[in-house]
Amino acid sequence: MFKINQNFTKLPASYLFSEVARRVNAYSQAHPEVEIIKMGIGDVTRPLCKAVVDALHKAVDDEAQAATFHGYGPEQGYGFLSEKIAEYDYRRHGIDMDADEIFISDGAKSDTGNIGDILSTADKVAVTDPVYPVYVDTNVMAGRAGELLADGCWSNIEYLPCNAGNGFVPSLPSGNPDVIYLCYPNNPTGTTLTRSQLKEWVDYCRLHGALLLFDAAYEAYIREDDVPHSIYEIEGAKEVAIEFRSYSKTAGFTGIRLGYTVVPKALKGLGDDGEAVALNPLWRRRQTTKFNGASYLTQRGAEALYTPEGQAQVRETVDYYLENARIIREGLAAAGYDVVGGVNSPYIWVKTPGTMTSWEFFDYLLDRYHIVGTPGSGFGPAGEGYFRLTAFNTRENTLRAVERLTGSGK
Ligand code: PLP
Repeated sequence: MFKINQNFTKLPASYLFSEVARRVNAYSQAHPEVEIIKMGIGDVTRPLCKAVVDALHKAVDDEAQAATFHGYGPEQGYGFLSEKIAEYDYRRHGIDMDADEIFISDGAKSDTGNIGDILSTADKVAVTDPVYPVYVDTNVMAGRAGELLADGCWSNIEYLPCNAGNGFVPSLPSGNPDVIYLCYPNNPTGTTLTRSQLKEWVDYCRLHGALLLFDAAYEAYIREDDVPHSIYEIEGAKEVAIEFRSYSKTAGFTGIRLGYTVVPKALKGLGDDGEAVALNPLWRRRQTTKFNGASYLTQRGAEALYTPEGQAQVRETVDYYLENARIIREGLAAAGYDVVGGVNSPYIWVKTPGTMTSWEFFDYLLDRYHIVGTPGSGFGPAGEGYFRLTAFNTRENTLRAVERLTGSGK
């Protein structure tokens, strides 16, 4: 009989959001009169902006006429979009970028998960902890993670804890990893790294021959000057880093799907014979073989984001979420909670009071204030004792939630 990929059986059931839903449903059934405010889910709530909607309509019309119909497109994305990305997201910020270093895809989840296809299964991985679970789980599937230990860590992954003790700034690794995942602005903590802090990581990777996988899915939320929008703002990063970007949280594309990955031409890894091999053609080969391109419609929609109207409209939406984040962060701080994030990020990371676990705090908030968030322990062992709230809500609900928590509503 055929064999399965045994690594999949090592993965524990993905229990976080289903358990959240189970507890919320049970509570609602027991207390049907209560109005629950949900601040757990990491999904946007505001509709697509007008510039995108107009471009999508026009693209549908293109597809309705033989003369302008588009079937299969280039697997790595249309030039009309990759040229705009190279120009607007990079060159205008002083970063050298060619359109053929950009690979457009259906989103950052696929790309951060698939990137391991072009890396050796012998590569040792390091992640910050807590972490976006896709990085760890996809390495488990590929056989790089080792065994699940009693403390919730995988034996062959190096965890770099981020907590109040180190100001949520991970230490450089000590286990000599080959591949390091960094996500800034961070999900789930909402924290960022400054230019000089990120430089240490780029320098580390250059010195040790490590690959930096930099997830910039929340780049659009950065408002502080000293926080780089791209890893390539750091000198030398093009030789060590791949960057992932997403239109999901930037422009509300979580439903229609689009993102891109930058694989610089200068980035090289080691082949079996010790020769340096460029990653850009490997990823192109991977994408052209396993991916048939993001839809023409969505790419036309994203193109509209690079017009002055598109830029202004998405900025307004992101500002709306950031104002929610400010309200939550300041409200919780005023109520005596220790909070980080929410400045350059839609996520607010709250320390649970006293010795309460993440799940105990979940139950406490649900029962006492009828507010739902996400237990930090679901994002890794170092997330225990923390809790994630998101700004992806209406202003009204955000204000009401803070009012419940603080009795003020400021
Ligand atoms: N990376 C991080 C850190 C995320 O939080 C998310 C979504 O929540 C993604 C990637 C996925 O983005 P996309 O919707 O483009 O697949």
